[in-house]
Amino acid sequence: MKLVVQVKLQPTPEQASALEATLRACNAAARAVAQTARGVDVYRNYDLRKHVYADIREDHALGAQAVQHVIKKVCDAYRTLKANLRAGNYGKPGSKRHRRVAAAPIGFRWDAAQPYDARMLSWQCDARTVSIWTTAGRLKGVAYTGSADQLKAVATLPVGESDLVHRDGMWLLYATVEVTEADPVEPQGFLGVDMGIVQIATDSDGTVCAGAQLNRYRRRQIRLRAKLQAKQTESARRLLARRSRRESRHAANVNHVISKSIVAEAERTSRGIAVEALTGIRARVRLRKPQRAALHCWSFAQLGEFLTYKARRAGVPLVQVDPRYTSQTCCKCGHRDKRNRPDQATFSCRSCGVVAHADVNAAVNIAQRGADGWGAVNRPHVA
Ligand SMILES: [Zn+2]
Repeated sequence: MKLVVQVKLQPTPEQASALEATLRACNAAARAVAQTARGVDVYRNYDLRKHVYADIREDHALGAQAVQHVIKKVCDAYRTLKANLRAGNYGKPGSKRHRRVAAAPIGFRWDAAQPYDARMLSWQCDARTVSIWTTAGRLKGVAYTGSADQLKAVATLPVGESDLVHRDGMWLLYATVEVTEADPVEPQGFLGVDMGIVQIATDSDGTVCAGAQLNRYRRRQIRLRAKLQAKQTESARRLLARRSRRESRHAANVNHVISKSIVAEAERTSRGIAVEALTGIRARVRLRKPQRAALHCWSFAQLGEFLTYKARRAGVPLVQVDPRYTSQTCCKCGHRDKRNRPDQATFSCRSCGVVAHADVNAAVNIAQRGADGWGAVNRPHVA
C-alpha cells in the first residue's frame, strides 16, 4: 500500500533560491510542453516526447530526468483535464466554458509541484538531510523536519517518487512510501463509529473523538471567512486562500488523530471497525443552515479514507454499513421510531424506555450491522 508522507525542508537562503529557480524553470518548461501538446494535438507521453524533448532540454537547461518528469507531468495534467471535461465539471459539451477549456493549453503556475525520482533526490535519514537536483547543480545536505511519525516513515520505509512543493513560503516534500500491510485478524466483535456534525466521531464504547472544542474553532473560521469574503480586495482574497489552506491542514490533522485513536482502540481490543458508508452522509444529514455550512467544511470522506488505510495497515478489518435509521433505532430492543429522538443529543426508546446518548446509540447500531455484515460475507459456510 502506498502512502504520502510530508516533510518540511529547511533550506538555507542560497538553497532556497536554487529550489525556487528550479521550480520556475520546470514549470516554464511545463508551460511550453503544454503549449506544444495543444499545437500538435498529442498528449501521450511517448509520442509527445518526440516533439518536445530536444527543444526543452536546450531552452530550459534541465537534465534528462527532469525533462522526462516535466513531460509526464503535462500528460498527467491533460489526462485529468480530459476526465474532468467528461465528468461535466466544466459544463456541458458544446457550452462556451467547456469549449474554451478543451481548446486552451494547460497553464502551470511557477510553483506547481514537481516530481522527483530516486536519481534526482536521495535521503540521508540519519543526518536528516536530502540531496536534491536543482538547475544550479546538486544541493547536498538540505535539512528537513517533520512530525515523529513522518520522520519515522521516511527513515524506515522504501521511499518512491516525491513531489517538491512550495506553499505559503514553505518548501515541502511529499514522499511516496510503500507500507506493508498486516494480515487481517478475525475480529472479536466490532467497534462502531458514528459520524456527525456536533460530534465528528463517536464510537460504540461511548468515546467522543472530537466535539465542542473543534466546533468552536470551525465556527470562528466560518465567521472570519465571511468577513474576508465580504471585502473582495486582492489582499483579502490571498488571505482567504491562505486561511483555507491552513484550515484544511488543521482538519486533516484532526482526522488523523481521530482515525488513529479509533484504529488503535480496535486493534487493542481485537475488534473490527464498522463505519457508515460515507457516500451518503451529506444527503442524509438534515440540519439548520449554520450547521449545514459547518458540515460542508468537514471532510468526512477524508476521515473515512484515513480510517481505511490505517485499519489496512494494522490488519484491522473495516466494514462499511448502510447507516439508514441507525439514529432512530433502539440499540437494545430494535424498535424504530422517529420520535425516539426527542432532541439532537438524546435517544429515548418509546418501546423499552432505554435512554442513551443519541450518537452512542447510533454507533452501537453501526457496530451491530458491521458484525452482521462481516458474518454474512466472511463466514458463509459456518454451520
Ligand atoms: Zn428500545
